[in-house]
Amino acid sequence: MTSVVERLRGDAPVFSVEFFPPRDLADEAVLWRAIRELEPFDPAYMSITYGAGGSSRDGTIRSIARVATETTLVPMAHLTAVNHSVAELRNVIGWYAAVGVRNILALRGDPPGDVYGEWVPHPEGLTYAEELVELVRSLGDFCVGVSAFPYGHPRSADLDEDTKYLVRKFKAGADFGIAQLFFAPEDFLRLRDRVAAAGCDKLLIPGVMPLTTPRTLRTTVRLSGAPAPKKLLERLEPLEDDPAAFRAEGIDVVTELCERLIAEGVPDLHFYTFNRSKATREVIRRLGLVPARA
Ligand code: FAD
Repeated sequence: MTSVVERLRGDAPVFSVEFFPPRDLADEAVLWRAIRELEPFDPAYMSITYGAGGSSRDGTIRSIARVATETTLVPMAHLTAVNHSVAELRNVIGWYAAVGVRNILALRGDPPGDVYGEWVPHPEGLTYAEELVELVRSLGDFCVGVSAFPYGHPRSADLDEDTKYLVRKFKAGADFGIAQLFFAPEDFLRLRDRVAAAGCDKLLIPGVMPLTTPRTLRTTVRLSGAPAPKKLLERLEPLEDDPAAFRAEGIDVVTELCERLIAEGVPDLHFYTFNRSKATREVIRRLGLVPARA
């Protein structure tokens, strides 16, 4: 099974997609429609998140197994340390290996319920993602990714501390990092510069979400941990009551962001799809990242 890093070795930039596990049969149908619609576009890899706070774990394992066995896509499974003993984590990692998943995004995760609440590790578990990277690495020939935060993780005291711990995850064996959502290309590029300045040359991949609705804009603000810049709000806010115009402008904004990132040499654009494929397909078509046959 191909690794994520192998898929990013080409000269041309590629794109990848992220989904979340289905909660019910209706969700599952939506997920599989999106997967099938994106498959001909040959994403470099596709990932499935690991339920926040420990929810929908079976869904992650089931869905990623199906991707590995029933599609042509390179699968990447997310895994968090939340509420798991090391023995349970070993078990899940073993499952991933057994169904043919070689790529794992190793995350600490957030406390269940209140994501900003106190982080209490499982008594026989792990405290930081760095330890999960080491565990995954120790269990087989996995390609391991980690999360990165352009504005710093909300729990980090400052960007220096944030960079220090990100670099430790790479030193622990991570092959690449995927960035949380951000607004301006410079915000991602400064993260890349900080990591390079710390002497680390591992791949950093920007996370991107098509801004199709006011809700996706609010989600970006929440997840990024930063307020939306005035320039962006001036483009989108006047269109809040006109869904078609908002969508068109939002797709323009994200396409421009991606164009700049490609010009800066990013190897991959990682799309947070929310289990829909249309907007992602539109952006990658406009960026010319589509194979001739799709
Ligand atoms: P860590 O890297 O462990 O960092 C957590 C905090 O501790 C940071 O402030 C860091 O600076 C600090 N820190 C790290 N190491 C040390 C150390 N050794 N000593 C002291 N401090 C340290 N959540 C899910 O539940 N499921 C998912 O599938 C999921 N997928 C994600 C995908 C991406 C691309 C991103 C960006 C986030 C994802 N998340 C997911 C959210 C993530 O779990 C949370 O952001 C969580 O709060 C942090 O996880 P982490 O792996 O970054 O933690």
